[in-house]
Amino acid sequence: MTSASKDFSVAIIGGGMCGLACAIGLVNAGLDVQVFEAASTFGQVGAGVAIGLNAIRALEGLGVMKAVLTRTHQPKPTQFLFNFLAGTNDEQIFHYFESSGGKNSEGVGVYRPAFLEALMPLLDPKHVQFNKRCTSVGRLSSGRYFLRFDDGTSHETDLVIGADGIRSVIRKAVVGENSGERLGFSGMYAYRGLIPIDILRAAGVKTDIEQPLGWLGAGKHIITYPIRDNKILNVVAFLNPHNNIELLPERPLPWTEVRDSQEVVDGYSDWEGDGKIIASHLENPSRWSIHTLYPPLESFVKDRVVLVGDAAHGMLPHLGAGVGQGFEDVYALCRLVGHPRTNKRNLDVALAIYDEIRVPRANMVLERSIKMGRIYDGYGSLYDKQEMRSELTGMYEPVWSHNLMAEVDVALQRLDKEVN
Ligand SMILES: Cc1cc2nc3c(=O)[nH]c(=O)nc-3n(C[C@H](O)[C@H](O)[C@H](O)COP(=O)(O)OP(=O)(O)OC[C@H]3O[C@@H](n4cnc5c(N)ncnc54)[C@H](O)[C@@H]3O)c2cc1C
Repeated sequence: MTSASKDFSVAIIGGGMCGLACAIGLVNAGLDVQVFEAASTFGQVGAGVAIGLNAIRALEGLGVMKAVLTRTHQPKPTQFLFNFLAGTNDEQIFHYFESSGGKNSEGVGVYRPAFLEALMPLLDPKHVQFNKRCTSVGRLSSGRYFLRFDDGTSHETDLVIGADGIRSVIRKAVVGENSGERLGFSGMYAYRGLIPIDILRAAGVKTDIEQPLGWLGAGKHIITYPIRDNKILNVVAFLNPHNNIELLPERPLPWTEVRDSQEVVDGYSDWEGDGKIIASHLENPSRWSIHTLYPPLESFVKDRVVLVGDAAHGMLPHLGAGVGQGFEDVYALCRLVGHPRTNKRNLDVALAIYDEIRVPRANMVLERSIKMGRIYDGYGSLYDKQEMRSELTGMYEPVWSHNLMAEVDVALQRLDKEVN
């Protein structure tokens, strides 16, 4: 643990995967950091997420990847390309990403609580305050920021980082009070759960489910991949009862709730085979109303308030890329803000470069995630297998094979020149 050596302080709102990774990166770069998390502990909620090579590189750059692999019992990242099959009646994989030129395909499946547990020992608890829901942020005449919390307390800081998720409060300080109007409901519900693989084998599942798979059908699809040393299958079953193409108005809260298993069984009653068996084994799944930030933000920075992760670009989960983009944000921000030459006087230069490199990249992935959802659920209605192959080809590669390190190195050279 490094003690603070910079002349400005940072408050991170939100201790999810991005907020916690950001805190570790900034403390290690010598910043005075406080994390304010609304919950009483680091998240015990959440399910599995897949992260690709781009995100792995970012986590390696932040020095936390080894801890994640150790905690999730994975000696190293493995080939992690999704292959696709029809969920309706046919367990034959019809699209292999290898055959579409997929490369740079290393990835890992990580259970969100396990990720947070892996990172916790890397941050001195003195940097974190729980039960602190930020309600507003205002700028003082000194240029510093004043944060208010729902327990009546407040905090002053020089730099505010909003890592408070898709329903971000901090976003209002970047885009204005109407930012809530940007949230659109995809019409889809994702039923998430974990199923022991040996139970599925005993129930007759024959498909090789130890590889990441997408089971496709009209208006519904299931994403499965193994986690915890291939013992558990992470399952996300999507249903779109609205049959919509365009985004719908934001849903009332709660967006996540435990639902009856029968809902999933009914939703997949027209499927046959292993996909249907997997859907029928989701016990009391959590149902997530799937929203996206839309239209995408024009900027992730206003003065000295900066957004990372879902607060900046909450996207649809169809490319398995939301938190990966968040880790790219965090890596770039930590390198720029933590750069030896960055100080209180010239901090805006680092933030402007962050904005310049992150907005186009993250928004490209956000737009693609919407397109990918339409492709997946178009199988059997809009596209046959042949058409699906060509639609899917090349969708993942620009996301997962991005050379973040090279991009950030160039950004740091620019920073060096501009603050000279
Ligand atoms: C069904 C589904 C599947 C997904 N699969 C993948 C995948 O395979 N790969 C992938 O990369 N991504 C995936 N994602 C997206 C991924 O889960 C998100 O991108 C990621 O969780 C965002 O992390 P975050 O830290 O930005 O925000 P969050 O995880 O939302 O964390 C925000 C934190 O801020 C806290 N908070 C909120 N408001 C306040 C406040 N006002 N004050 C203080 N604290 C606050 C919250 O309690 C929380 O701890 C998926 C999402 C869904 C819904």
